[in-house]
Amino acid sequence: MPHALAYSAKSPTAPLTSFSIERRSPGQLDVAIEILFCGVCHSDLHTARNEWENTIYPSVPGHEIVGRVTAVGDLVSKFKVGDIVGVGCMVDSCQHCKPCADGLEQYCENGFTGTYNGPEQGTGANTYGGYSSHIVVRESFILRVSHAENDLAAVAPLLCAGITTYSPLRQWKVGPGQKVGIVGLGGLGHMGVKIAAALGAHVVLFTTSANKRADALRLGAKEVVVSKNAEEMAAHAGSFDFILNTVAAPHNLDAFLVLLKLDGTMTLVGAPASPHPSPGVFNLIMKRRRLAGSLIGGIRETQEMLDFCAQHGIVSDIESIRMDEIETAYERMLKSDVKYRFVVDMATLKN
Ligand code: NAP
Ligand code: ZN
Repeated sequence: MPHALAYSAKSPTAPLTSFSIERRSPGQLDVAIEILFCGVCHSDLHTARNEWENTIYPSVPGHEIVGRVTAVGDLVSKFKVGDIVGVGCMVDSCQHCKPCADGLEQYCENGFTGTYNGPEQGTGANTYGGYSSHIVVRESFILRVSHAENDLAAVAPLLCAGITTYSPLRQWKVGPGQKVGIVGLGGLGHMGVKIAAALGAHVVLFTTSANKRADALRLGAKEVVVSKNAEEMAAHAGSFDFILNTVAAPHNLDAFLVLLKLDGTMTLVGAPASPHPSPGVFNLIMKRRRLAGSLIGGIRETQEMLDFCAQHGIVSDIESIRMDEIETAYERMLKSDVKYRFVVDMATLKN
């Protein structure tokens, strides 16, 4: 079994440190990948620190992976050695339930296999993610990357932040003539702004950080609202078709629900460790508003998103970091100080 270098959390409180893992030898349907870049998602932090109370230690986070194919199994037909590919939040699923058949592997009735924190299909073993030098993944969970070679670090975050925002924006048919809110300008939020703008919507960014105003406009928002400012919020009452809420912490959802118009929807993608205060029923029933959720996106749709972003020249705005800077990156993320995604240059793992 091939060894790989990695960075892992050994407990909820210990900082991540270097670690050696074993990857399986590529099977007939497997592709082996040398990881070039891995984005840092807030889910990595939730998992490393066991905030969702389901972490299996040691844990190697990372599910925004871009790399180069180093070997393929005999039955692999879509990829060859040297190809630039991506791996997102899933590496497997049951492949026979209805959601899997419909290309919605993230809703697999038997549970998809996370790129990290498992469980591996069949063995139930823990899986190790992208904070590592290599990974072996079955062909059907690998994405083709067609962006230019010098964009690859900035492409990595599309594999989670990109698809997690693209999927609900498509599901709720966001497009021209619609007023769309994005809540939170972090990793997910800044991709939401870019993609919703590319889909033709009038985008309004809600932020708690007044100093992000200029960036939000540059990224494609037409208006910026500081959500702590009640007057600014009130000016938008009853006016939104759709709001995508990416906030990673519990907060008052009613403040946003009242901004939806008749039949408007707010979809939550942020996954805080503790619940939001329950929203008021009257804000929903009086205007037939909907409060929804959405989980990443299926493999087919992830490929569609990558191709859409390549066509529209969309990548993430990133800060490149060394692997040994991950704890500092987490601390900055907790202060909403991310501009707007950290990406680990995996070459720094080997040094
Ligand atoms: P992030 O980069 O930390 O961004 C979150 C943003 O939320 C912050 O930048 C901040 O934006 C805002 N925020 C933070 N604390 C807040 C508070 N107390 N009140 C109001 N706003 C606050 O995180 P991310 O990587 O984008 O991930 C966001 C969440 O989505 C995480 O919980 C993550 O686990 C989850 N997630 C879900 C899925 C899914 O499939 N549903 C996929 C990936 C990630 P401002 O400074 O602009 O206010
Ligand atoms: Zn993620």
